Amino acid sequence: MGSIEEIEKYAYENNIPIMQKDGILFLEKYIKDNNVKTILEIGTAIGYSAARMARVDEKIKVTTIERDKKRYDLAKENVRQLNLEDQITLIFADALEYETKEKFDLIFIDAAKAQSINFFEKYKKNLKNQGTIITDNLDFHGLTKNPEEIQSKNLRSLVKKINNYKIFLENNKEFTTSFLKIGDGISISKKK
Ligand code: SAH
Ligand code: MG
Repeated sequence: MGSIEEIEKYAYENNIPIMQKDGILFLEKYIKDNNVKTILEIGTAIGYSAARMARVDEKIKVTTIERDKKRYDLAKENVRQLNLEDQITLIFADALEYETKEKFDLIFIDAAKAQSINFFEKYKKNLKNQGTIITDNLDFHGLTKNPEEIQSKNLRSLVKKINNYKIFLENNKEFTTSFLKIGDGISISKKK
């Protein structure tokens, strides 16, 4: 896919959960306003958010991890067609197993929602001192308000894990977090 619009269309038609419009607009503005230059993304999908973040400024470098081979391959092709190969490094791996010593201005967590605490704990060492961890989908389509009313056991369990992640962030001694009702719910965590 050679344009952002085509990637958006493909994502909607194939149920690939890319960031919502106001969420990605917020992220782009955050990157610009805070002069973010290095980004680690957990959860590439087909490269939509990685491409939008990279396009904020040509000096930005994005490293992004995806464990699904089909999505990774599509992301690679999209990055190539958008001419973003110099800015985006795609990694085919399970983010819970991948290891890097590199440090980033921004870590964007947007992968398996039940694992957010694990991603946060694993990758906080890869954050620069003034860095930020942003997490997507904290509202999970509005389901996080009344988890007890959810019929499906798996979904209820997932939603409870998302709520646990929020409690984890609220009580975190190393990071201060603000929660924004933008897109599907976004948190911004900064080192204290
Ligand atoms: N950030 C993307 C959307 C990501 S969707 C965008 O807005 O354009 C979440 C993706 O995370 C899925 O493609 C899923 O395969 C991937 N994922 C989930 N758990 C993962 C893990 N442990 N390691 C790597 N990728 C993971
Ligand atoms: Mg998301």
